[in-house]
Amino acid sequence: MNTFEVVDLNLWYGSNQALRDVRIDIPANRVTALIGPSGCGKSTFLRTLNRMNDLISTVRIEGSVLFNGRDIYAPATDAAELRKHVGMVFQKANPFPMSIYDNIAYGPRVHGMRRKSELDTVVEDSLRRAALWDEVSDRLKKSALSLSGGQQQRLCIARALAVHPEVLLLDESTSALDPISTGQIEELVGELKKDYTVVMVTHNMQQAVRVSDHAAFFLLGNLVEFAPTDKLFNNPDDPKTADYVSGRFG
Ligand code: ADP
Repeated sequence: MNTFEVVDLNLWYGSNQALRDVRIDIPANRVTALIGPSGCGKSTFLRTLNRMNDLISTVRIEGSVLFNGRDIYAPATDAAELRKHVGMVFQKANPFPMSIYDNIAYGPRVHGMRRKSELDTVVEDSLRRAALWDEVSDRLKKSALSLSGGQQQRLCIARALAVHPEVLLLDESTSALDPISTGQIEELVGELKKDYTVVMVTHNMQQAVRVSDHAAFFLLGNLVEFAPTDKLFNNPDDPKTADYVSGRFG
């Protein structure tokens, strides 16, 4: 089963082409890592999966992205509805300036959930899934901004999970964290793939090796190679992949 099927995707920011004929099937309930040097289109590609590029007026897209068989760029597709199914977590944790509880309850409330008992359940469940509950259960009414960086990032994951997405997109979500928090999030990602499809951009090749099942190597807007992570790192088909994963350029 593939969650996304991307066919000949091209994307331009004004006259700057950032993605070139990208073709990839992203498998369900697996972790797919996007790797490659900086500026090669990884983050742009990730953002096309939940139509973040809609927010930039100079972007032009050709090709198609199917989510569970549905073309997410078809005019009839509702971007807000799509984003209920596709959660995103960014490089820098961005908790809302409100309590831990209200951060998690925010999305469910926007989608119409009002009963306190239901909200309580979603908040606890989401924080448990994000491996944060035990650390914050006694201070849910405290500001989310009082948490450590690693806790804030797990809070952002919990907030994304609270609306029951199918997909979690992580854009360099551990790059601002210390090794212990990074390890906690990597472990969490391994757990989450049971229930979610995870796609993560990482500039850290060791992280891709540790947590991903499949890896996609981007270079100058091209998807050079997509393969099981073990193959991509140990026995890649393309010499450019071999050069990159062996550290000959970065
Ligand atoms: P990566 O994630 O691999 O570092 P990006 O997707 O961020 O690469 O960038 C790919 C290319 O698109 C770069 O040339 C970058 O300058 C350009 N780009 C990224 N975001 C924008 C934007 N919002 N507006 C214009 N150009 C952008």
